[in-house]
Amino acid sequence: MSDLTRISAAALAEKLTAKEVSSVEATQAHLDRIADVDGAIHAFLQVSGDAALATAADVDARRAAGESLHALAGVPIAVKDVVVTKGLETTAGSRILEGWIPPYDATLVERIKAAGLPILGKTNMDEFAMGSSTEHSAYGNTHNPWDLDRIPGGSGGGSAAAVAAYEAPLAIGTDTGGSIRQPAAVTGTVGVKPTYGGVSRYGLIALASSLDQAGPVTRTVLDSALLHELIGGHDPRDSTSIDEPLPALVAAAQQGAKADLTGVRVGVIRELQGEGYQPGVLARFEESLELLRGAGAQIVEVSCPHFTYALAAYYLILPAEASSNLAKFDGMRFGLRVVPEDNPTAERVMSATRGQGFGDEVKRRIILGTYALSAGYYDAYYGSAQKVRTLIQRDFTAAFEAADVLVSPTAPTTAFKLGEKLDDPLAMYLNDVATIPANLAGVPGLSLPSGLSDDGLPVGFQVLAPAKADDRLYRVGAALEALLENEWGGPLLLKAPELEVAR
Ligand code: GLN
Repeated sequence: MSDLTRISAAALAEKLTAKEVSSVEATQAHLDRIADVDGAIHAFLQVSGDAALATAADVDARRAAGESLHALAGVPIAVKDVVVTKGLETTAGSRILEGWIPPYDATLVERIKAAGLPILGKTNMDEFAMGSSTEHSAYGNTHNPWDLDRIPGGSGGGSAAAVAAYEAPLAIGTDTGGSIRQPAAVTGTVGVKPTYGGVSRYGLIALASSLDQAGPVTRTVLDSALLHELIGGHDPRDSTSIDEPLPALVAAAQQGAKADLTGVRVGVIRELQGEGYQPGVLARFEESLELLRGAGAQIVEVSCPHFTYALAAYYLILPAEASSNLAKFDGMRFGLRVVPEDNPTAERVMSATRGQGFGDEVKRRIILGTYALSAGYYDAYYGSAQKVRTLIQRDFTAAFEAADVLVSPTAPTTAFKLGEKLDDPLAMYLNDVATIPANLAGVPGLSLPSGLSDDGLPVGFQVLAPAKADDRLYRVGAALEALLENEWGGPLLLKAPELEVAR
């Protein structure tokens, strides 16, 4: 494996700026790595090697001509397949969009292209981002680089696996209930869900519009801050986009790396630990708390009593919004069209297309959502869930009076075996108990690796901050990363662990 694929994006960016390596070399190294390992990992649905090398060559030429470039110019990146990319097939992991070539770029893709980051390809995901294991993809499983028999998390398992397997230094994910943070936790990567409205949703294929956020997947906290600053900030094409400058995220990560948290109040969420959490996950969590305490943080316990109902509220609100968002896949406008032989009326084409084009999990949620929104049940289900959502937001408001950031394990367990939870939707949904509250309240969250459990698999540590205070995630996240570094000699994925795929 080339050294260029083993370093952080920030380190690679420095080598590019110093003209020690060219973007073409760096991009080719990642394409070679993809060719070597992606047969086993299957992180990518599409690899856009020629386009990536063309971007790289262009950046190299501009650099040689002395143009001033973005700090990440020339650093390659992978993009989750739910984000539309002009001229590059975008399926959201679904058969219904097979062959769909978008005529435009998502805002975040425009920003990535304008900054000169070569796009390596599109990553695998659960169909329409519904799932926690990537097993609901219509295009096959992605394998966890730590153990190929295990899931890489979901729905953004492809982006997380690509970064963990050194196929890409940076990736884009989307997080509606945990799909950036939970895959990060089980693959040993860093993943950030920004404040709702912090990154434009223009050009994201919507799952649940009031919950969706795109964000970075990387190997270090600083790399996430760099990518977040690149893709974030106001976009007039998204009416929920926050019209304010982003907080200084890179500066916060740099400050955090000094590992001085004097005066920072860290709130441990009582409801997000204990029963249902794997002992190895809790052990790493406790050790990380001790490290934060050692760095001067004040550890307090906070209670968020309504978090117990977050999962139930989410699985009413999400299907309700999804059933409406997915109505546009009707066989007329995008991708697949199935025409029944006899009597092909518009309604029958629509029904045949949706019947064949959607997988079981998508159908389950459309049915659930339509039911929850139906006139007779609206108040009992959707209306009640929205009230619970307000109570969860109030829990956060109260907790953030007692603490500057809140923390918990990111996921209750390490990566489980492929197939283990596939036939049990409720067991699958439980993976997101700790991540969903942030989406319901719109607050930002970060997951970083806090070591390995007794089973040798990575454990995620989650940091949550108030809306629009994403800088706190980076300060505390970078501090913990630096403190852990002292224990094990480097951020988890930079210290060359014995990944199965690397052997
Ligand atoms: N696993 C959750 C779900 O299935 C989260 C999905 C997501 O964040 N996109 O809905």
